[in-house]
Amino acid sequence: MPLRQNEDAVAAFEPPMLGEPYLLTPGPLTTSMTTKQAMLRDWGSWDGDFRALTAELRRRLLAMIGDTEGAFDCVPMQGSGTSCVEAMLGTLVPRDGKVLVLANGAYGLRAAQILRVLGRAHTLIDKGDYLPPRGEEVGAALDADPAITHVLAIHCETSSGILNPVEEISQAVYARGRKLLIDSMSAFGAVPADVETLRYEAIVSSANKCIEGVPGFGFVIARKSELEAAKGNSHSLSLDLHDQWAVMEKTGQWRFTPPTHVVAAFIEALLQHAVEGGVAGRGARYANNRDVLVAGMRAVGFETLLADRWLSPIIVTFFCPNDPGFSFPRFYELMKEKGFLIYPGKLTAVESFRIGCIGHLDANVMRSVVSAAAQSLADMKVASAAPAPHVLGERAKLVA
Ligand SMILES: *Cc1c(COP(=O)(O)O)cnc(C)c1O
Repeated sequence: MPLRQNEDAVAAFEPPMLGEPYLLTPGPLTTSMTTKQAMLRDWGSWDGDFRALTAELRRRLLAMIGDTEGAFDCVPMQGSGTSCVEAMLGTLVPRDGKVLVLANGAYGLRAAQILRVLGRAHTLIDKGDYLPPRGEEVGAALDADPAITHVLAIHCETSSGILNPVEEISQAVYARGRKLLIDSMSAFGAVPADVETLRYEAIVSSANKCIEGVPGFGFVIARKSELEAAKGNSHSLSLDLHDQWAVMEKTGQWRFTPPTHVVAAFIEALLQHAVEGGVAGRGARYANNRDVLVAGMRAVGFETLLADRWLSPIIVTFFCPNDPGFSFPRFYELMKEKGFLIYPGKLTAVESFRIGCIGHLDANVMRSVVSAAAQSLADMKVASAAPAPHVLGERAKLVA
């Protein structure tokens, strides 16, 4: 299925630099040459030219959530994605608030760990490795505990690649007058987060995922009324989202040294995102990458952890083959020799690995990934990619 209508856009999918592998990982990921080239200039962080970049970055990100009423603002924050989750939780949840964390993988558990370190009251629904938290059980948990003020949901849980049902979760939350915060780190920019159809107070993501920038900062898009009300909540100076926002509103500057080159690269990445057709265009390319990958890997004999309904266009978990000749470290090295960095699995019960669909790559790359996987199995003299029979029983739980 052709994704790109125009030849220039197709030609823009140049391979990584000579000798560089494709990163089939959920960020940092493969970036375009123009994004890398944007880092060749030095910027004065307080200079008007750089302040204009910051303003453009905020404006373009805000435009992605369809906030026609101007109720939200975008606050970029230095650091990794986790810093930004910590800034969001530490600033937007009042000190006497209580958070219900919905976990089905490492990132939900990390959010709970952040709250523990911050000393904020919280409670957890832990669904294990890959089962989605459903609206009904969220509603029941909220009914049972009136002290809960906020719910934290993970949009795409990158540990398994599951796309969690945030719309039904949001309905359950607001039907009970509570507030929703979303970690959309690995989904924002490719999966819609339109405030007209999905209600939330704040959503957090970072530069090096679906927008295809390089790592160095993240951003929280939050309702202005929540930002205004959050003065003095933060446990931290450098992670105080309210203060970062207030200073940026007043001066156009970041409070402390911004990652200037990373911001310049991000502006370039945002332009490419817009040229591709924004969230819809980016999401369509990733979905096609996933479809080509999953169909190809299944044809080789691999099985996905998740049933089709829950597969995100971000990253896919495959079961390791049961064949005694298969070894994941060896498979990883063979894939790397062929130019592809894949990602280990993060499941506790069964052996698995992950392949990302995001970054500056298209369906042609995914076809090469499938060929490389088939060849790597042949190199290891693995006759069948089928997983152990009992693991498929795990997947059957998801069909319900
Ligand atoms: C990548 C990611 C994060 C943040 O990870 P960092 O390594 O701190 O950048 C948080 N949540 C999710 C769902 C992610 O995919």
